[in-house]
Amino acid sequence: MTETKILLDESEIPTQWYNVVADMPNPPDPPLGPDGKPVGPDQLAAIFPPALIEQEVSGERWVPIPEPVREAYRLWRPSPLYRARRLEQYLGTPARIYYKYEGVSPAGSHKPNTALAQAYYNREAGIRRLSTETGAGQWGSALALAGRMFDLEVRVYMVRISYEQKPYRRSMIQTWGAEVLPSPTDRTEAGRKVRAADPDSPGSLGIAISEAVEEAASRQDTNYSLGSVLNHVLLHQTVIGLEAKKQFEKVGDYPDVVYAPCGGGSNFGGVAFPFFADKAAGREVRLVAVEPASCPTLTRGHYAYDFGDTVGLTPLLHMYTLGHDFVPPGIHAGGLRYHGDSPLVSQLYHEGLIEALAVDQVPTFEAGVTFARTEGIIPAPESSHAIRACIDEALRCKESGEPRVLFFNLSGHGHFDMAAYDRYFRGELEDFAYPEEAIEQALEHLPKVEAAQS
Ligand SMILES: *Cc1c(COP(=O)(O)O)cnc(C)c1O
Repeated sequence: MTETKILLDESEIPTQWYNVVADMPNPPDPPLGPDGKPVGPDQLAAIFPPALIEQEVSGERWVPIPEPVREAYRLWRPSPLYRARRLEQYLGTPARIYYKYEGVSPAGSHKPNTALAQAYYNREAGIRRLSTETGAGQWGSALALAGRMFDLEVRVYMVRISYEQKPYRRSMIQTWGAEVLPSPTDRTEAGRKVRAADPDSPGSLGIAISEAVEEAASRQDTNYSLGSVLNHVLLHQTVIGLEAKKQFEKVGDYPDVVYAPCGGGSNFGGVAFPFFADKAAGREVRLVAVEPASCPTLTRGHYAYDFGDTVGLTPLLHMYTLGHDFVPPGIHAGGLRYHGDSPLVSQLYHEGLIEALAVDQVPTFEAGVTFARTEGIIPAPESSHAIRACIDEALRCKESGEPRVLFFNLSGHGHFDMAAYDRYFRGELEDFAYPEEAIEQALEHLPKVEAAQS
């Protein structure tokens, strides 16, 4: 096998998404309302279209991908699987390293895989507008693109600090014709509440979610769209892993370990869940979610019911959490800042079926630069977390002489993150382990529910 890029034909874009719930040993814990009772599908109808609510609670193994969505996927899918020969050579490792490159999408990350699907189902349901939040701007730009493709207006509440520090993501959102506002705004109750308490609030993902949900709940023509965490989002992202499996088959190889960066868990679920199906059927494969040591949700958070947003407007989700009032340390430059994690990923981690590890930010940027200097592609700092973990394993293989097959998801490119690279080159980044007291404090702020634990 001599290929560098392992490519599929457009006709090989998956026709169905894979639902991991069908292969989980235990059913997922339901979201709960403020009264501690499971939230029914009808309560979600104020902000989501019926098709997405159905997917959110579905136990069907396969969900058909609508033809208009596949048609839009053809703009960049199937995405390439690369064999990282130059990186292998540089490391001197006997490991075979592969990566799936999601940076080929128009927005530069995996996020359009679900943005297009969500826009499609909302338009089918007669919705005219979508509201959403964005942190660094990746999700906002993906939904702006999707709104354009499926003819929906999009309003993006962008975390203020990013709005100011990442002007080009903001410009991308505007280029695709969406509206972008620095959050907290004074247009919503949630935003006004935060600003009253802290007029200089830099914003956070949790606050921006509160604003976007409030807007969607209060307008008939508007629904809310979330870029990660929820079951239907992870479902849509499984095109990544499904394609990758076909690509591995083409070259007669199979990964021993799958790595993905983990923020809300969508690209991890997307790449890892189709391999989990094999694992559930008895095949040996390790699935590893990689997160920043400064936002260590899976590795150091609590597994508990918590709000998805800061103000407490969303249902309670059973997930690993650092507390819904978590604000990431200012020194942190690498994304993956969300306080919680996907309930599906959380449950599989809790049950010991997948793994997680946390990496420090200086070695993470170092890995990203090593990757750029060997493979050429400048990775998104988020993706570099997975690269760090993969390089560490490749170096262990070098010690032990084991020719393991390592695979990671290169979730996006870093062309709009060069300011973070600059900070790294100037030596301004430090490693920062999130303090234990803060984690303990977060526990005290968790909503009190008498949840039935599985
Ligand atoms: C958003 C994002 C992530 C993390 O989000 P998940 O929901 O965990 O997938 C990772 N990489 C890139 C490039 C992103 O834009």
